Amino acid sequence: MQLAFALALFFPNFMMFMRSQYNTQRALVDHLVRSGVVISPEVRKVLDKVNRKNYAGDWDEASAYTDTPLPIGCGQTISAPHMHGHALEDMLPYLKKSQASSVNILDVGCGSGYLTAALGRLVDDSKGEPILGKPGKVYGIDVYPELVNMTRENIQKEDGDLLTNKIVEVSIGDGWKGLPDKGPFDAIHVGAAAYEFPTDLMMQLRVGGVLVIPVGRYDQALYKVERLAESSKYSDRDFRKKRLLGVRYVPLVHPDEL
Ligand code: SAH
Repeated sequence: MQLAFALALFFPNFMMFMRSQYNTQRALVDHLVRSGVVISPEVRKVLDKVNRKNYAGDWDEASAYTDTPLPIGCGQTISAPHMHGHALEDMLPYLKKSQASSVNILDVGCGSGYLTAALGRLVDDSKGEPILGKPGKVYGIDVYPELVNMTRENIQKEDGDLLTNKIVEVSIGDGWKGLPDKGPFDAIHVGAAAYEFPTDLMMQLRVGGVLVIPVGRYDQALYKVERLAESSKYSDRDFRKKRLLGVRYVPLVHPDEL
């Protein structure tokens, strides 16, 4: 204990680390609830169901259940659990109020698959009423074929029914372009920072839908972008952008830069 105190004195982040390291998914989710990141019962249920250990590569349990990003290969990371909780909370109201009988969701930069699977669990209707209250479909894309494979393999571990029931579909794709053939989407999440707002992607939102995206090259912030009106040509007037919080994400690359 004395050692912990001394470390905390010299390395203030150490106490944060001490506080946010847990041994089970349940304890990690409890932390997210206590810290005020997770507020809705729907997000809580989803996070309880999707075990971060299955999406944290070779990292041990102590790391997997710590509220911190972790390297997953290809120079990329699995985001910190509090960012997953935040993103789910940001999208939830728009999914709930969607008029669509089945909601349509796109997760850009699926990485090792955690958020894609969590969104899948939110709309999974294979065992009765979905947690969201209505069914839906989730598309996950990533620019790295290795990470698309990793997402599939990770989902297979304990969430494989989402793939076999076609609630979740994963493919190689460029987030700047999105998936125009599969839209419009009620919610689009982007897990990498764009240097400018991606208008092609914004045009794939349903009216009333939301894009949750980190934007900025050096000084980054998480934004939510709502689509207010329909038009075949992009216009700034059809969207409302709101800055949510300062963040640090890997860049949303152009595939020809790889
Ligand atoms: N969403 C995941 C991973 C975040 S890391 C999570 O929350 O854990 C960011 C991911 O975005 C990486 O997997 C990276 O390969 C991917 N990415 C970067 N640029 C991309 C692009 N243009 N299109 C699709 N994916 C991209």
